[in-house]
Amino acid sequence: MEVASSSETFSPQVHVQGFVDEAVKTLDVSDLYSKRDILKSVTYAAAMGVSIETVDELKSVCSMETLKCPLEDVHRDAAEVPTGTELVTLGLRKRYLDSKPNINKNCKFTVLSWNQEHAYQDVKPPPEREVKPQSAVLQVAVFHPSKKNRQKHKGKRMRLAQEYRVLGYQKLTDLRDAITCIADHTIAGEYSERPCNVPDIRAKDIYKSAYFFIENVFYNDLRYEDNRDLSKNVREWKQNKHEGKGSYTTQNMEDVKFNDLHIRLGYPYLYCHQGDCEHMIIFKDLRMFHADDCRDEGLYPLMVDRYRFRRQMCRVCATFTAKWVTYDDQLAEESPCFFCDICFKALHYKDQTKLADFEAYPYVDMGIFNIAIV
Ligand SMILES: [Zn+2]
Ligand SMILES: [Zn+2]
Repeated sequence: MEVASSSETFSPQVHVQGFVDEAVKTLDVSDLYSKRDILKSVTYAAAMGVSIETVDELKSVCSMETLKCPLEDVHRDAAEVPTGTELVTLGLRKRYLDSKPNINKNCKFTVLSWNQEHAYQDVKPPPEREVKPQSAVLQVAVFHPSKKNRQKHKGKRMRLAQEYRVLGYQKLTDLRDAITCIADHTIAGEYSERPCNVPDIRAKDIYKSAYFFIENVFYNDLRYEDNRDLSKNVREWKQNKHEGKGSYTTQNMEDVKFNDLHIRLGYPYLYCHQGDCEHMIIFKDLRMFHADDCRDEGLYPLMVDRYRFRRQMCRVCATFTAKWVTYDDQLAEESPCFFCDICFKALHYKDQTKLADFEAYPYVDMGIFNIAIV
């Protein structure tokens, strides 16, 4: 689907399931994969100026199978790492692959998001994990949270954080769980008095509330008992300001599939979590699932793009990634100042006694999102 005209930056409102119904009526989307092969043969035949039968014959005569020696007849699956190997690296590789059941095991290297889309193109999942036929595919761009000091950052472009492909029959909670934001990973608290006792409890483990705001409806994440309706204040404000006219409605995020939504492509919507971490989201594309898409529904929402962060390095050794940030630090030349764990403790403590006045907070580097997501 495309936007209505070049003067408009967003499309008219469209019901996703309505789009699917219309597409199924108009297009023949059954048996996608065998059609793809037939289409390829037709294209090659036209380009070479020969018949389709000749192309098919050439395909079988020149196939990779004909290049094998008799000794190569033993089938070896590249995804199968042999057990009991004496090679340490291969053993470690096997342990890694066994711990990640969803990874594409044919890939030699860890799969990164920017080639994830293509790496998974030819994956043949077990039948129960095949994407359901006649599904809608939506492409959703998630932007970095908007800055609180709007005046200072006025005129700056919004930066893309991640871009996902979701299936129409997936729930909004599937996208909510896939979106990664540094606010979910922070560790709250000041730990200069007890730097060795930092708990491994992240903000996302405590504050699980969130909502999407799409076409005047708040879709709240209320899956857990402690979750709160974060949209309540906004709805009350709207009610008071407009004296009940045009009030917003709410729904549970887990009860809603993308197929149920009415959306405008290109129109900015909102994802809010951790109280006030607000991300603009945009539906960039709505189309039917096709033969070149990843067929494994377990890999959706499929990340197809993301922002690469620059690592925050330790100010002392300039070698390791920062794990601490200090404020009003008598031993540092700047505030805030960043340290790796080793340099932070070596500089600020002797026999576990604090040597100067400062505030210290565990620092989670945004660069962790550059690491492969598998
Ligand atoms: Zn966020
Ligand atoms: Zn360091």
